[in-house]
Amino acid sequence: MPTTLLYHRDPLLLTFDAQVSAHGTHDRRATVVLDQTAFYPEAGGQMADRGALRVGEVERRVLDVQVDEAGLVHHLLDDGAPPAVGAAVSGVVDGARRRLFMALHTGQHLLSHALLTVARADTASSRLGESACTVDIDVPALADSALREAEALVNQVIDEDLAVHAWFPDERELAALPLRRRPKVADNIRVVAIGGRDGVPLIDASPCGGTHCTRTAQIGVLSVAGAEKYKGKTRVSFSAGARARRELLDQVVLLRALAAQLSCGPLDVVPAFDKLRRDVLALREGTKQLVEQVAAAAASELVAAQPAPAPIVAVLGDKELMRAIAAQLMSREGRHALLAANDGDGLHVVCARGPGSSFDCAAFLKELTRAHGGKGGGKPERAEGRLPGGLDWHKLTTG
Ligand SMILES: [Zn+2]
Repeated sequence: MPTTLLYHRDPLLLTFDAQVSAHGTHDRRATVVLDQTAFYPEAGGQMADRGALRVGEVERRVLDVQVDEAGLVHHLLDDGAPPAVGAAVSGVVDGARRRLFMALHTGQHLLSHALLTVARADTASSRLGESACTVDIDVPALADSALREAEALVNQVIDEDLAVHAWFPDERELAALPLRRRPKVADNIRVVAIGGRDGVPLIDASPCGGTHCTRTAQIGVLSVAGAEKYKGKTRVSFSAGARARRELLDQVVLLRALAAQLSCGPLDVVPAFDKLRRDVLALREGTKQLVEQVAAAAASELVAAQPAPAPIVAVLGDKELMRAIAAQLMSREGRHALLAANDGDGLHVVCARGPGSSFDCAAFLKELTRAHGGKGGGKPERAEGRLPGGLDWHKLTTG
């Protein structure tokens, strides 16, 4: 006899009495099978319930719940002897987790309906995970505006607080129902419908065996995080219920902190950040021009102080300034420059030659690193590298 599924009748039932009907196994782990259960077993993309089974004074945690092909629900308990076959037990379902998955699941139905309405996008599959929920839809791409529109439509139905019905219609009733998707089973088809009774228009009807809210307002809120291309389809990420509320509130805290840093209101963060970005770019450009001017002046001074044919040798305080001076000196006819910048840990060095010079910069640097360690390389015209600290650059270059 398959296990009687109490959650089908009442998804809000969190405590129940039952009898142990068998000991079983699932994935080689020992399980307890009951004659009836309010625990939802993992199925249809929805995670299993958690909670506890009590036998007299003893309480055993329910770590996982699975269902087999015969319809037997297996409860995987924490370590210890399983309650005896025939024993009376009482079950307690983790209410917060159940309510969350009810919200996620009902939210998923509404989101699939909304994506169909807004973008004619059929849901191929969905997954309600421990930390993330997704709906894969049969379109190659979806505009952000369509996602926002679908999200708004879902939240509108949530606000309307419509009744959610779950039942097993007979064949005639089933044939007349405009199901959003075809059932995966041939008989005993359970339908979950949002609206559609007592003069309320039917919003969505689909075959489903999961746990759902009994009214749409219990979802609380649904937020669509975004969409990405996935195997020729589009994967939409969403959140709902207490999880969405927690995520959104956490994001508000971060947004407020960012706004405080930028000295603006939370809604002005994007323009304030954009201004900051433009300021940084302008500053970077100004600094670059300044460095070039300083480098040009420094290069002229070095050339004047160190007449040809000797190499132009210098130790500078800044790596970027050193590179800029090297670039200036590469235009000096017949000269080559051996520059270093001391950053405390060692020497960053650049060797560069001007037109008409036959000095081999790469060979020179290679010889230095061979003799003293460090690394670097380049071409005959220009080479760059690092040497260990404690070396005297003037001695190395004039010795
Ligand atoms: Zn469902």
